[in-house]
Order: sequence, then structure tokens, then C-alpha cells
Amino acid sequence: MKESALRDLIAQHICKLKPGLTLFQKEQYIPCEHGTKSFIDLYAKDQKGCHVLIELKRSTTASRQAIHEVNKYVERVKQYFGAKDSEIHVIIASTEWAELLLPFSRLYADAGFSVEGIQIDVSEDDLDFQVQSISPLPIVQGRSIAPWHNVYWYTDSTAFQQGIDAIEHAYRQKGIDDYVIVKFYLSDHSTPDERRAVSQARIADILNVAEATLADSVSNIAIPVYEYVAYTAVQVLPKSKCLQIISCDKDIMEEVQELLPSMEENDALCYLHECVESIEPSPQCDYYEIGYPAKFNKFCELPNCTSLGVIRHGIFSRNTVLTDKIIYAELSGEDGSTGQKLKKTVDMRNPAHMQNLKEDIATALETNPVWRNHILQIIGEIKSEFPDSEIDIHVFNPSTGIFTIYYAIRKEAGILYLPNYYILVKNPDAIRLYFGALEANGSALTFPQILQKYYDGNLAALCMTATWGGKDERDSDIIEDLGAQYRSYRSDLSNGAPTTNIFTLRDGKWRPHKMFSLMGLFNAYVEKNQTLVDQIFIKIHSHDKGTLFDFQSADIALEKYVDMATAKKRNLYYADAPSVCDICKFPLSDAKFMVDGAVRGSLSWANMCGDCFCTYGVKIGWGYGQLYKREAGKWLLVGGFCPNPEQQP
Ligand SMILES: [Zn+2]
Repeated sequence: MKESALRDLIAQHICKLKPGLTLFQKEQYIPCEHGTKSFIDLYAKDQKGCHVLIELKRSTTASRQAIHEVNKYVERVKQYFGAKDSEIHVIIASTEWAELLLPFSRLYADAGFSVEGIQIDVSEDDLDFQVQSISPLPIVQGRSIAPWHNVYWYTDSTAFQQGIDAIEHAYRQKGIDDYVIVKFYLSDHSTPDERRAVSQARIADILNVAEATLADSVSNIAIPVYEYVAYTAVQVLPKSKCLQIISCDKDIMEEVQELLPSMEENDALCYLHECVESIEPSPQCDYYEIGYPAKFNKFCELPNCTSLGVIRHGIFSRNTVLTDKIIYAELSGEDGSTGQKLKKTVDMRNPAHMQNLKEDIATALETNPVWRNHILQIIGEIKSEFPDSEIDIHVFNPSTGIFTIYYAIRKEAGILYLPNYYILVKNPDAIRLYFGALEANGSALTFPQILQKYYDGNLAALCMTATWGGKDERDSDIIEDLGAQYRSYRSDLSNGAPTTNIFTLRDGKWRPHKMFSLMGLFNAYVEKNQTLVDQIFIKIHSHDKGTLFDFQSADIALEKYVDMATAKKRNLYYADAPSVCDICKFPLSDAKFMVDGAVRGSLSWANMCGDCFCTYGVKIGWGYGQLYKREAGKWLLVGGFCPNPEQQP
């Protein structure tokens, strides 16, 4: 069957190709300036009123040429009819797909308009045909470092070198070629005695006993110092590759097959990368932890940390243009790929730059629709007002929900942890500045309400998110419930300094706004929501162990003090129990335990919830604290009994 016969056949039954199509023309002619072929095989419209360009292919030859021509037709349709990308739909229909599939997949991935592939099977008598939809192949992206890293710690340089050899061996065994190992040295000049003292204090803290009682048991322990770090990250592995590596471990494979179908794309990829790491051989090390961009950043910022260079493999070693600096930036998530950070300089005249920028913004602000829309609007504005300019864009969007507030008050220079962005327009000198900040807005829920809404009331579940940097997909909703909102501002510059005119974006328009500082905005938020901020600080701080968060629930820690036998015998209840914890003001009505005890470092006593006891209490025992457990709606004394039952009130 000839291509023209196929075209006539499909033209007669256009709805069979795709329901809802109305044919305009066979061989629509589009005038063009340079006399190349300009016929679209079939030209139709669909139910949405889009221009539908149908390109038919019969043979496998010249398939790449065919795709190239599609691009040309689309350009002409845009010129001739003034159609927009969003109003154009391209159908590539062919009886043979073997050669066409790859170029089609590339077009599908790159085109600004929508593209669809259809396989046509003509019946033997050439009078009828069947259609089948074609799925494009996943297109290979360029370099993309997976945001799920590994941190291997070593005590000395010999173990370190052996460890690196083992890491390389493990990746070789698994068939992973493209990865980097960043070597860090963290100097620790503490003496063995100093280290013992630190760990003694820590153990005492965990066990809730006086440090002196531990002196004997700890004095002989040699506490190792981990000074060497091998920090590894791999090029994102496709799902199929992960599954192939995992398939050698039957148990893990079974678990994967059970869990994978219900997971979202990104979670699935993260989970698969973790599984790949846990497959044998697993490199030996003295201590292991999971890494992620925020943690990598922290290493780089530590004053006692020195980088000993990057070991590159595969694409990272072949690409000699790639500097260590770029690798560091990508590991800390600065390319926007982690949805947290984006830092770029963009030439507004370069359409490829512009296209990339829009994609990067979509990724970096995936969880932040407010700023995503604002910034896209701003870019459109810059393009029309200053088409020849260059812009510096910097976005920090940690999406850490409740942790956003916690880090801002907890950390030194905490204001740096607040989400923000700026876009500086240069033409060639700086002429305008756009920026974004969090601002107080509306009324907030209480902390117990927020905890209930997003984490089932479970503080431990919230702390667990800190393991991967605290990022929460629901960030924009949480921020709103915290009584804040993402705002955008604009300031025009004269001689580099902002003029006194500041505007803020409201309902799509720039409106005058009073002068302010970013610090001032945050302080105003804290002032307005003092109780909430205090509660966030008190509650999360009780789980903050410096470099990590412990997410054991206080209930489990308290369970070991329960002596039910004695409790039943004494049968003592707390009369007129308080309704809220004296320290964090959380309601005690839902709590399992309550402690009436001494507050560490002070002479006063307080009724405390479990979390507050773990942080501010001394211990359970007569003279220190009484533990109560909720039993049938009343508080039963279950720990810290009076040694002499007759004396107890
Ligand atoms: Zn409390």
C-alpha cells in the first residue's frame, strides 16, 4: 500500500485514528519563505479546538527526517495561523515503528507542543485498519546526581583507604559505573579524657542518672574518633537497573515487588536506591549514615572539615569540563534537582536558557506553587520589559514545614534557614530586584492541631522527617496552617541601591508596600505567634541531639519506669489533674503519661508531659518525680513511689 493510499484510507475514517477529530484538509499546504516541501499529510482539529497535524509514515527509511519535518510544519502553523504551542497537537502515525521510536521519543520529551504516536495495522484487503497507542521510550537525561547519598566514616587513614577500595569494589560488583566519592577530613583534637567526659555526659543523659555513678564503668572505654569520611553519590539509576541489581537478593526483591506498586515515582526511586546500597557487597566502615544534600552542605560548612578531593568514576571522570566546584554544588542540591536550591545566571535572549530555567524552577519549587507561579510571572515580566537583560536567580526552598520555624529560631544565624528567593535584573547594571520571603498571615492553628493534622499527633513521626532533611511534600499547606504565607516583592534600583518604593504581588498585580527588612518580617511573625513558636521549639528541641534527631517516642522511654504491680497495690490517683503540661502547654487529655516532678537545674516542680520530662525532668523516683499513667480516664501513680507506703499522702 502506498503512502497516499494509506492517507486516503485514514482520511475516510479519521475518527478511527482518534475519536473526536474533524478533518480540515488532506495535504494542507502551508506557504513558506524558502521553497521546501510544506504539506502536512492530514490536517484536522480536535474537540478542544486544537490544530492537529498528522504525519503518516509508511516505510522505515528517513524516519529521522520525518521528525525533523514535523518540527518545521509546527513552526509554519504557528507563523501562518498564529497558533500557540499549547494549541497544537501532533500525531505521528506509522505502520512501522522500529526506526521511528527513538526519534519520536526524543520529540515527545523535548517538544513544547503535545505529541502522540500511533501504530497503524492495515487489514489484508487494504480496506480497514486498527490503531494502537505507542509509548515513548524514557529519554536519557544528562548528568543527574541522585539526592540519596552515603556517608562512610573511618577512624584512621589506613581504614579510610581500605574503605574507599571496598566502596569501589562494591560498585564494580553491582555494575554501577557513574559515581563520585568526596573525601573529607574532620580534625578532632580532643583528648581521650575529653571524649570520655562527653560520652559520659551523654550516657548519663540517656539513662537519666547522675554522671558520677557512671565514672567507673566508662573510665576504661577507649572512645574512637572518626576523622575520615568517604561521601558517595551516584548518577540516578533507572528503575530497571535498580531492579536488575536487586534481583540477586531474593528477600529484598520480594519486599520490593510487594511495596513498589503502591509508591509514588520519586519515593519509589529513593527506595530502590536504598535497596541497591543494601545489597551485598556492602563496603566496610567504622560508622555509616545516610547522606542527603543538606547534610553534604553541613560538612562543607563545618570549620574543622577539609576536603581531600573527589574520586570520579564513569561520566564524572570522562567529563573533563566538569569542575569539582560544580560537583559540590550539585551534591548540595544547588541545581534545583532536589527541590530545595537553585542558583543560576541566565541570559534572557537565549531561548534554550529560558526553557531550562523554567524547568529548573518547576523542579526547585515543586512543593511551592505560590512562588512557582510568582516567579514564572516575574520572568514573563522581565522578558517583556528588559528583553536584553541578564538575571541572577537564587532560590532556597527547603520545604521543611514545621522545621522551617524550628531551624530559624534554633540555629545560629537561623534566618538563613528561612525560605527565600531573589532575582536580580542586570541591563547591564542592576536595575531591579525581585525577592520572596515568608510573612505572617491570617491565624495559625495550634501546634497540637498541626501535629494532629499532618503527623497523627505523633511528634516522633515529625522528627523522623529530619532524617532526610525535614522536607515535607505538604509544605505549602503546613506553612499556611502555621499562619504564614510565601510572598513576593519588587524593588527598583537606582545606582544599585533600592529606592524607597517597594511593591508586593497581590492577586497578580504589584501593589505598593511599606519598607521592611527580612529579619523584621520574621520577628513580626514570631511576635504574632509566640505560643506556637515556643511550643515548636520546646517540643522539637527535646528530640534534637545536635547532629541527629532521636525519634523514639517519650512513651517508650517512660514505659520502663512503670511498676504495675506496686501501682495496683497502692492504688493512688492524681486528684484534680491539670489539663495541660506546665512547660509546653500541650493538652494532657490525649497523653499516656504525665510526670509530677522536679525541673532540671531549678528548684521548682512541674506537671510535665512525657516529652518535656525527657528534656526537663530529672528522673523518676521519690523526691525527683512521680510517674502517672492514664487508666480508665484517671491518672494512676505507676512509678516513683514513696519507699514507705504509710508516709505517702
Ligand atoms: Zn510538655
